Amino acid sequence: MKTELVIPSAAVYERAGEILRRGGLVAFPTETVYGLGGNALDPDAATKIFAAKGRPSDNPLIVHISSPEDAENIAYTNETYYKLAKAFMPGPLTVVLPKKDIVPDSVTGGIKTVAVRCPSHPVARELIRVAKVPIAAPSANLSGSPSPTTADYVMRDMDGRIEMIIDGGQSEIGVESTVVSLTGDVCTVLRPGDIIPRELYEVVGEVAVAEAVKVPSAAGDNPESPGMKYKHYAPETQLILLSGEREDVISYVNNEKRKKAVLSYSEDTGKYKDAYVIDIGSADDPKSQMYNLFKALRDVEKADADIIYANLPPENDDFLALYNRMIRACGGEVVPCLPLGEGGPLAVDEEFTI
Ligand code: AMP
Ligand code: MG
Repeated sequence: MKTELVIPSAAVYERAGEILRRGGLVAFPTETVYGLGGNALDPDAATKIFAAKGRPSDNPLIVHISSPEDAENIAYTNETYYKLAKAFMPGPLTVVLPKKDIVPDSVTGGIKTVAVRCPSHPVARELIRVAKVPIAAPSANLSGSPSPTTADYVMRDMDGRIEMIIDGGQSEIGVESTVVSLTGDVCTVLRPGDIIPRELYEVVGEVAVAEAVKVPSAAGDNPESPGMKYKHYAPETQLILLSGEREDVISYVNNEKRKKAVLSYSEDTGKYKDAYVIDIGSADDPKSQMYNLFKALRDVEKADADIIYANLPPENDDFLALYNRMIRACGGEVVPCLPLGEGGPLAVDEEFTI
């Protein structure tokens, strides 16, 4: 199949809407990352999405709607949903609710809940409006790869697999939406994103964070969100996260003899020797790091390095989305870097796996 790369126009929305209504696939920009869209009410479209991504079909898709009230068509809403909608929609929040029968089981991977999101990106909104159907859309990457933040990255993964890619520039947030579940007693974060637990807490009063958020869970686990059990975002070269003080991380990397690449804080880019360095943003600026992370994880392959290093993000609320993505991208490979120690210029603990 030929994959068309187009820029948005009234005619493009019409054609994209037609493709979606007849069961085809269109990738489109959102404020978080690019989505790979199909008609959420068409069971075959969901099957095509899983095939195009190479994604296990038990990993449910997020259904995109053009206004928060449209959730009524596909899910059983509640008061908390509307509190969250008032505060965060349209925007980078996905809410899991009990599903209505109209949503095919193939969209939700066979489970009885559905994830609902109302994106703020004007192209996504116009596409859903013109298509006149809710759009099921996971991130538009091959399963396991970093989510695409530009149309060009979508093209690299999806060329020949889908009918159309709409180019809307680089996604402004850069990591996928915050996913919360409202199917239990407490609003629970299943996947962290730009909207952080503290902000949710201010709106709904009580918030839990699923344990799987902080660990790279292995296949076979049964975390609340099925997507959390797969290795994700991983570059082909092994990524290792380094914990500890920044200067100790720099010394550790500079002691590495293999061909190396570093995802570096802006402040430290000049301090690494003999390394292919990518700036991922200022150390204390999680938003710029989120914006740059997936692009960095893709671009770093150009270095053709033997090993990639990055700082382990802090474990607090503001960095939770980065922590979650990076711990999964490295498959749990974290090495603590210690200050100058006895018996050598650099004492490094045994590598351990979380
Ligand atoms: P992606 O489609 O790549 O943005 O990933 C969607 C994420 O939302 C995955 O981690 C899914 O497991 C999660 N998700 C989607 N639908 C549900 C649902 N009904 N219940 C729990 N998690 C969901
Ligand atoms: Mg994804």
